Amino acid sequence: MLNHVCWLCKANTGHNLVGEARFVGPEAGVRPEQLACAAYECSICHGISVALFPFRNPGSLSMPLYQFITTVRGDELRWRPSVTETKDYPDVPDHIAEAATEAYECDSSEHYRGAIMLARAVIEATAKDNGITTGTLYNKIEALATAGLIRAIIKDAAHGVRQLGNEMAHGDFVDPISAEESQLVIRLMGEILNDVYQSPAVISQAQQAAQARQQGGQQ
Ligand SMILES: [Zn+2]
Repeated sequence: MLNHVCWLCKANTGHNLVGEARFVGPEAGVRPEQLACAAYECSICHGISVALFPFRNPGSLSMPLYQFITTVRGDELRWRPSVTETKDYPDVPDHIAEAATEAYECDSSEHYRGAIMLARAVIEATAKDNGITTGTLYNKIEALATAGLIRAIIKDAAHGVRQLGNEMAHGDFVDPISAEESQLVIRLMGEILNDVYQSPAVISQAQQAAQARQQGGQQ
């Protein structure tokens, strides 16, 4: 039994092999690089997941695949469907919040380029929504800070995201994107949305509540 976070019930549960593991794809078992694949059933909700295991050189396996697959750990396999985490961005205008959620889900699904490009677009849309409609992304980030909508420390970090996405936006996929870079960008996008929309909303709610209490006390 393998431990793995189930995409369906989201619990870290034991998974039992269903049927036999196999090499898949054209000329299965012959090419120098091969993908092994096996189906597993969650012991709690009975949802089926597919575990993938790429082999550089399947011919070098010292034991049959069905035996080998019993020796691996759950975190050594790539699982599909993967557990996709999601996140809502309350108090953010719908068209921006939906794109931000999509960026978050891209990162969670290991689509790092997509995550960064979308996060960049979310920053740009946030500027436009606040009347900053002209200039490059660089100018818009500067204008957001000048208007006091984002903190100076966030402004500097936002320029980092801009630079990271810049090459990709112009068709240059030079350097591979790491999971850490993508996660940093998603966190930073969250900080910007917090500065511009969420934090002011919380403060305004607190002020309204205090006002209501004051008025109640005067009666
Ligand atoms: Zn499950």
